[in-house]
Amino acid sequence: MKTEKPERAAVRGTEASRRAPVRRGREQVLRGIAVSPGVAIGPIFDTTEELPALPRRSIPISQVEAEKQRLAEAVALSRKQLGKLKTRLGVLPEEAQEELAPLLDAYILMLGNSRLLRGARKRIENEHLAAETAVDDEAEAIAALILATRDDDKAGLNRRASEVREIARRLTRNLTATPFRSLGKVPVGAILVAEELTPADAALLDPTRIAGVATDEGGPDGHTAIMLRALGIPAVLGCTGLSGAARRGEQAVLDGAAGQVVLRPGERALERGREALASFARERARLGKLRRLPAITTDGELVELQANLEIPAELPLIAQAGAQGIGLLRTEFLFMNRDDLPDEEAQVAAYTQVVEAMVGDSVTIRVLDWGGEKDMEALGQGVAPTHTGPNPALGLRGLRLLLKRPELLEVQFAAILRVAEKGKLRILLPMVTNPSEVKAAREIYDRVARRLRRRGVALPDLLPELGAMIETPGAALAADAIALEADFFSIGTNDLAMYTLAVDRGEVDVAHLYDPLHPAVLRLMQFATEAALRLRMPVSVCGEMAGNPRLVPLLLGLGIRSLSMNASAVPRVKQMIRGLDIGDCARLARRVMEQSDPQRIHELVAEFVSRAEAGR
Ligand code: PEP
Ligand code: MG
Repeated sequence: MKTEKPERAAVRGTEASRRAPVRRGREQVLRGIAVSPGVAIGPIFDTTEELPALPRRSIPISQVEAEKQRLAEAVALSRKQLGKLKTRLGVLPEEAQEELAPLLDAYILMLGNSRLLRGARKRIENEHLAAETAVDDEAEAIAALILATRDDDKAGLNRRASEVREIARRLTRNLTATPFRSLGKVPVGAILVAEELTPADAALLDPTRIAGVATDEGGPDGHTAIMLRALGIPAVLGCTGLSGAARRGEQAVLDGAAGQVVLRPGERALERGREALASFARERARLGKLRRLPAITTDGELVELQANLEIPAELPLIAQAGAQGIGLLRTEFLFMNRDDLPDEEAQVAAYTQVVEAMVGDSVTIRVLDWGGEKDMEALGQGVAPTHTGPNPALGLRGLRLLLKRPELLEVQFAAILRVAEKGKLRILLPMVTNPSEVKAAREIYDRVARRLRRRGVALPDLLPELGAMIETPGAALAADAIALEADFFSIGTNDLAMYTLAVDRGEVDVAHLYDPLHPAVLRLMQFATEAALRLRMPVSVCGEMAGNPRLVPLLLGLGIRSLSMNASAVPRVKQMIRGLDIGDCARLARRVMEQSDPQRIHELVAEFVSRAEAGR
């Protein structure tokens, strides 16, 4: 049974951030990564609120060592977060830097051999308390002692006590990393500001309440960015220094296409924001007229445009956008924000809702892609290791986990097969690296189908096709061998770029190195596409590249005729396709594939797009 957790913020913010003495009234322009287009003008809602009281928790004596380890991990994470904040102080006004730097140093010191941590460890050992309860008790005891000190500087005492409480709060947040569930309190029309937002947090956002999202952390194609695009929430991530400079309740203008946040905007900035808002609305209305028109090039080549779906709440957006079905249903939503696993019946209900909403259009359901940044509580409960080593993205992720815990895959296959008669389904395997993995998954698939038939469940004679994501360099280079085991390919350019370039897709510090137009990524895509086309096997692109109209001519030139993207990107991509000639696209691709310099590739693509737009 699903157990509710108390509301608390895993979205991080700091007491320190709130204190940065940026003078009220002064306009400040911050730049970040443009991840989701749209404009928001509204009051800031930061996430620095107090954590609600945690339930006190004891542990059995046998767990003392594990609990101390959990505390050590939360300490390490907290140090890392504060270290990051410190390295980025440079973007803040000088006065803010001067106040903030010593404060961060004090926090980092408290995460060393401090009284707080020694005391918390003792409480775990002697009183058998859970780490968060031990930290909380110790911080309160220290704060009480400080406040009882005879000293005339009452303000100083209060400040020291609140510093101890603040560092305890950060530790507690990291120990109980549950999603931010108090979004009900966000005033309608507010801009949510946080140090960091996890994909699970983002899944809880209500696009009808929240005008925009901006965070210090995050990369261009991380899952948080994808989720925000999917929900159509204007967003800027990787906005260094933001949470230190933003104040709750103050006005801001956020431009998700320009990757800019203006805090405390002056009249001119507000005026520009209003204009941008109106022009975005006009553009949307204009694109809306394309909804019923086919995605066809000027020389008659039809391109399939499908939607990626993160959460069922997006279903109405798919028809509105004019997408033809779902090219990637990320089933992770079923496993997020809960601490148990969804059973077969719950999965059948979820897939039925999606398939029926598509009324005959095809739906590609990807089985669970757990791991890396998509950490999920439900799987932490003994199903899979919560800590997958120093490089979680290289660990037990996606299909690797499913083959190690085949019962997960069996339940998911069974649920999908049970809705197979209700629509046009395909099944997609994530994070494939070897042909043998696809073969092993297919054996499980066939076994599950036989078992269902024995139980009298009606299944189609031809089972839904089983495809492979091509999202690792290994899979791309072994695409000819994988093509013999899989029924179709879906190229995941997000992970393909990440793994090829060794650049974390969700990490702001290396965001400048993340480049799907790097020749290495393009060569892998070309190799995999040609392997599929030689066998006349369907191949599509479902990574974020597919939803970027500027990159679509190149994808078509490489031979791709099926694209799946966040629903809100469909109209712009369709508009681009309707002005393209396939011969021109093929010539562009040939020129691009001769290049070894990423910069030159960017130029060629930009020149092509300018010409295409000028000819519109
Ligand atoms: C990809 O990696 O490109 C992809 C579509 O999968 P995800 O973004 O869910 O990892
Ligand atoms: Mg992927």
